[in-house]
Amino acid sequence: MAELLEPKLPQAGLAGCYIDGKWHWPADGRKLTVENPSRRTPICEVGRGAKAEIDLAVAAARAALPAWRALAASERGKRLAELGRRLEESAEEVARVLAAESGNAIKTQSRGEAMGAAGVLKYYGGVAVEQKGETLPLGPGLFSYSTREPHGVVGSIIPWNSPLQLGAVKISMALATGNCLVLKPAEDAPLAILKLAELADGLFPPGVFNVVTGLGEEAGAALAAHPGVDKISFTGSSEVGRLIGRATAERIAKLTLELGGKSPTIVFPDAIENGRLDTTAQQVANAMRFARQGQSCTAGSRLFVHKDIWDVLMPRVAEKAAALKVGDALDPDVDMGAVINAERYGEIRNFVAEAEAEGADFLIGETPAENPAGFLPGPTIITGVDNSWRIVREEVFGPVMVAIPFETEAEAIAMANDTHYGLAAFIFTHDISRITRLTRAIDAGWIQVNQGGGQIPGMSYGGTKQSGTGSEYSIEGALEAYTYRKCVTINVEQAG
Ligand code: NAD
Repeated sequence: MAELLEPKLPQAGLAGCYIDGKWHWPADGRKLTVENPSRRTPICEVGRGAKAEIDLAVAAARAALPAWRALAASERGKRLAELGRRLEESAEEVARVLAAESGNAIKTQSRGEAMGAAGVLKYYGGVAVEQKGETLPLGPGLFSYSTREPHGVVGSIIPWNSPLQLGAVKISMALATGNCLVLKPAEDAPLAILKLAELADGLFPPGVFNVVTGLGEEAGAALAAHPGVDKISFTGSSEVGRLIGRATAERIAKLTLELGGKSPTIVFPDAIENGRLDTTAQQVANAMRFARQGQSCTAGSRLFVHKDIWDVLMPRVAEKAAALKVGDALDPDVDMGAVINAERYGEIRNFVAEAEAEGADFLIGETPAENPAGFLPGPTIITGVDNSWRIVREEVFGPVMVAIPFETEAEAIAMANDTHYGLAAFIFTHDISRITRLTRAIDAGWIQVNQGGGQIPGMSYGGTKQSGTGSEYSIEGALEAYTYRKCVTINVEQAG
């Protein structure tokens, strides 16, 4: 094994909440321990913020709002771009912290995430000036125009699977559009976000950007229910999304939800013709996000393969997944790290054990061990199942792909859409008519054809059905979700 890289953790005493431009430990000294899931060892303590810290952060954000929203959009953008530049400069340091807390391998995931997050901040730095309104041609007596106004104080709640990237998206969208932000990172992975707050220190006026670390049912619930929060932007499970929907409905606060998925990958025979077998197999494995332990909302975790190529394609996909070196996320040679915690590991284990007991076949992988040294389940591909099985219907959020053969295009579409999720889909074919039919027919916010890549700044990204509401990553998404249209009509005095 290569020598493990060591993360430089947030300084002791700095790992509290970041409120009103200052570091703040909860008054009663309550703490949370963050663990390294690759090694199952504690790595850092952070403040266990709750209602009191949320109250302070919301008050600071509200006080900062008038000056921040009045600032020129280009100036807000400049500061976001500068944060992106600082993050780029510190990318290796932040990536190590990210790998330590999230279990996402430094080699394949965490370095890319740090640079991707910097890219998001820089993109919004550039497009902040696009917060434009409209004019209406109403004739000589009237002049009517609209502006895009920030909602006010935004509360964002994010998960642990790509915390820095999601944090960068939330910060960028809220601040570029003139809102102030209170960000609640996941209790399992708050450290990279605290690093980002360190980098942001002094860049924004106090109160514009606040971070409250803590538990979902304490700090998260207090933020969602806070009467001083005008909008909530939540990324996480559909289950918690529903709770947040109820809390915000009480006061008609604006809401964006980016929730779970069970995305289909559909492969037609022509996708492996003309020497494309290897590339297609690799892209199918990429779409499944095996290298991120399958812990991706867009993971192509249901694979539908045409029966004529099943025997050729499936072994090659298995080969690609099996080639990933599994181990400590801070080992520079490791491709695939650990799933986040004991609870998640246990859930993945239950899904796989249940499928095994019901008679599923394993192309690769096995039911994970009951009491492992690190939460490292390894890639698993399950066959011999149909669309009614729990492992096919529910989001496993682990490195477990189910594969099912199909005969006709209609059958593939029906199985792909037979889910309450609608986040992403992956189609492999070079037949343009088929691509056009399928991209129309499949219910998903984002469809990739012949590739299994990640989100791109500038491209609107969001789900349909129970995968969410609203879209992110693009300035259009930010304007729709983080601003409202204010219309003004002026009765113009006519010249005498
Ligand atoms: P989760 O819903 O358990 O937690 C997400 C966040 O919500 C955490 O910060 C948590 O502390 C907080 N939270 C938990 N209970 C809360 C409550 N009662 N009130 C307020 N906040 C609360 O999700 P998770 O397990 O951390 O993340 C995995 C889920 O996130 C998966 O379902 C995945 O598909 C989804 N996800 C979606 C996207 C997307 O863009 N659509 C991106 C990443 C992850």
